[in-house]
Amino acid sequence: MSPSPKDAELLAGARTWVEVESKTEDLEGLERLADMIGAEAAALGAEVEVIEGRDGFGPHVVTRYPAAKPSGNGGVLILSHYDTVHPRGTLAEFPFRMEGDTAWGPGIYDMKAGAYLAMRAAADAHAQGTLPQPVTQLFVSDEEVGSPTSRALIERLAEEARYVLVTEPAREGGQIVVARKGVFRYEAKAFGRPAHSGARHQDGRSAIAELCRLVIAFEALTDYASGTTCNVGLIGGGTGANVVPAQAWCEIDIRVENMAEAARIEAFVAAYTALNPDVRLEITGGLNRPPYERTPEIDALFDTAKGIAAEIGFELRGLKTGGGSDGNFTAPIRPTLDGLGVDGAGGHTLDEQIRISSLSERYALMKGMLERLP
Ligand SMILES: [Zn+2]
Repeated sequence: MSPSPKDAELLAGARTWVEVESKTEDLEGLERLADMIGAEAAALGAEVEVIEGRDGFGPHVVTRYPAAKPSGNGGVLILSHYDTVHPRGTLAEFPFRMEGDTAWGPGIYDMKAGAYLAMRAAADAHAQGTLPQPVTQLFVSDEEVGSPTSRALIERLAEEARYVLVTEPAREGGQIVVARKGVFRYEAKAFGRPAHSGARHQDGRSAIAELCRLVIAFEALTDYASGTTCNVGLIGGGTGANVVPAQAWCEIDIRVENMAEAARIEAFVAAYTALNPDVRLEITGGLNRPPYERTPEIDALFDTAKGIAAEIGFELRGLKTGGGSDGNFTAPIRPTLDGLGVDGAGGHTLDEQIRISSLSERYALMKGMLERLP
């Protein structure tokens, strides 16, 4: 089966973005792709603003399409990222390829194809004079590491808009995201006292033993019924089997569904102290992304999307996910729908793939939303 003309056209465009490698740390690749995105959007009628990168991160690209008639409102913000998790060189071993209804490539699913089709949807609606309100599409360069240099910009543009549509990939058979967990990141360090494990064991204060108690206590925060999970994913410490360890550290990832659970976690961490008074604990970090909670406004936005999808010919379903995105920043500010990118699988792996026929479906859904959101 060969792709429909619309799918083929969208795929060809998305492929050109996939073939410019743009891992978050790859400044040269990011700058090249930012130039490409800006030039393409400008050629399609957008007003383009490039915000220079800082702190070692790449530039962010803001593209704006005016409404057909002055609307007097802030319109729709489409939120996209153009960085990936794949380092330079990945393309050589994992090149773009297609077979049947599937296309593979680094970053194609998360989220270059979704960002590309949204650009085309906005530009086409603009060219056809069917935009009732302005559309801004923001392409950030640092989402994969938590958006340290784009968060303030994302929040500012969300405040100016009425709705936020995020082009993160669809999942599990094309479902879109209507709620995401909030993400805490902590680093814990324990500082004990070193000693010879044979001759002076009693003088030592084990940082590892203290840190292990912390790991058990933190992991006990997990409560599946309320959607809270704690994972200590990295750990290290000590200098040798025959030395009482003076130092140990671990990295902690905690996810929560709502602000009440977020408050419970914050209180627990603030009150946590070492069991052994001779060992000092240092816990740094906090709520990296607030929870994206489902609200009546989000439900209404979802219903609109569902109606448009039904007209196009597919059933749109919503789901909650534990994964964070930039949608977490905007959901507390404006009604946000996420997962409006392409359908596929294998994000962040060397099996990253999209369902080619979802390109035109998602393009039509995005264009329909931009043309019809009240
Ligand atoms: Zn993503």
